[in-house]
Amino acid sequence: MATKQDVPTSSSLETLKKRVDEAATIMKIKPAKVVSFLEALGVDQDDAGLDLLSAETTKEEDAKPIFVDKGGVPVAKFRLGWAILKGETKASAAKAETSKRPVSQWSDEDVVSAYGPDAQITVIAEMKKRGDDRRFVVFKDGVVDVETTVTLLRLSRRQAIPDTYQVKGELVRVYRVGEFPTIQFEECPIHHDTLLVDGYCDKCKASWAKIPNDKRVMVRVAEMAIHGFASDVERRLNLIEELEEGKMPKIFEAGQVKMLYDELAQDGKLPLLKRRASSSAGGGDPFFVHRNF
Ligand SMILES: [Zn+2]
Repeated sequence: MATKQDVPTSSSLETLKKRVDEAATIMKIKPAKVVSFLEALGVDQDDAGLDLLSAETTKEEDAKPIFVDKGGVPVAKFRLGWAILKGETKASAAKAETSKRPVSQWSDEDVVSAYGPDAQITVIAEMKKRGDDRRFVVFKDGVVDVETTVTLLRLSRRQAIPDTYQVKGELVRVYRVGEFPTIQFEECPIHHDTLLVDGYCDKCKASWAKIPNDKRVMVRVAEMAIHGFASDVERRLNLIEELEEGKMPKIFEAGQVKMLYDELAQDGKLPLLKRRASSSAGGGDPFFVHRNF
């Protein structure tokens, strides 16, 4: 191994040393580490080293086990550092960092990954452009399913994509760019003005999560018929407990409650206790709330 004293001053060795220093900075390790990793790869710090390193046969996939798996360099830092070692200029290597390039140059994966209701306008516009206003976006648990969406984006260039698509045996909806899954809010059956958080009402100090919606609707109707029937905590908790046990609370049998329920049911006006908020990017009020009562 070359030491400081006997370093030849050939320009290729200087170039190699410069690349090692730059790569070391990017990878956040000492230059000596980079040198030893390169040696493990068979690239020595001599005149032949640069040619060997630059050769097409010296590949990233060969270096990765040494730098990343054994050497502990994080993979993204390794890739950028490796590009520098291979002789790409720092500027061109830095292009690997997606965020620094214009969106139009991003890969489909990068554009889709950056997409969502809060995405930048440029990302949304690029999605529209690439998809040519066809539907191809799939969500999973409220976030973009990147893998499926990219597949459908590519597929959509050759064939029409239906409204629904099967992902691992599950039928999912396929959206156009700018359309997002509907977020549904639930109201407390007793407190009209309170939205449940995972089923919990902050005013009831209790959870309605285990109560099916049809029973919640009956509670709401009871509340409309006999206002304040469950105004104290004790009563509310008893009511919820009975409902959880599958019992029919007595209040449901009260004349006014039954009458109002039948009336509303007949007119198709039973309270739904659900509010839909669909966010749509780039236009109007993103949290337009459709009230059902
Ligand atoms: Zn409540």
